[in-house]
Amino acid sequence: MDSIIAIDGPAGSGKSTVARLVAKKLSFTYVDTGAMYRALTLKAIREGINLQDENELANLAKRTALDVTNDKNGNIKVLLDNEDVAGFIRTPELTAKVHYLAGVGRVRKKMVKSQRKIGQRGRCVFEGRDITTVVFPESKYKFYIDASLKERTNRRYKELIETGEINPEDKTLDEIETDIRVRDSKDKTRDIAPLRRAEDAIYIDTTDMAIEEVINEVCSYIK
Ligand code: C5P
Repeated sequence: MDSIIAIDGPAGSGKSTVARLVAKKLSFTYVDTGAMYRALTLKAIREGINLQDENELANLAKRTALDVTNDKNGNIKVLLDNEDVAGFIRTPELTAKVHYLAGVGRVRKKMVKSQRKIGQRGRCVFEGRDITTVVFPESKYKFYIDASLKERTNRRYKELIETGEINPEDKTLDEIETDIRVRDSKDKTRDIAPLRRAEDAIYIDTTDMAIEEVINEVCSYIK
């Protein structure tokens, strides 16, 4: 497990940016596991599946192939039945629905299996909510990336504007803070694989840190 770097943390903590840049620096593959839950949610929406029907969701997971790869520039490809859906999975409407799938044990089981299979290729930075606790608890390099709610709200707002997912007039900072708070609470209190800080994960509070500092700190542990 020396070639797997495992990173968990709450929404907006900057863990995706950290994972992506650490992967780039070390020439590892960046695996955004949130994108896998998002891709499956996209398929559920496209098929008009009842998101409250656990059997339907489990069946959906069972008959879906999910993979994550990077192109030669390090940009992530999220393959849903071989279609790259990376450009369709970040809308606020979809984000608000991911918890339905993330809360179903049979869906998570399938995800963990797919993620471990990707991990077998080696040299990967995995990022998500249960990577250090469930998917790769035996990994040598485990991190929990955190930041204050205020800072996470500001980062998320900036990201949503920069990526064009929302226009400045669409949402207030207060609304984004509420979205993050609701999502955190669902992720931390679900019965199966809730987000928590693994005892042996290195905790990094990035509230007052520049991204380069976080990258350097993470990389300083990698031997
Ligand atoms: O990381 P991201 O914000 O894209 O994740 C979207 C959602 O996917 C999270 O709020 C969480 O509900 C779910 N997720 C999960 N386990 C992971 C990664 C993401 O439950 N390993």
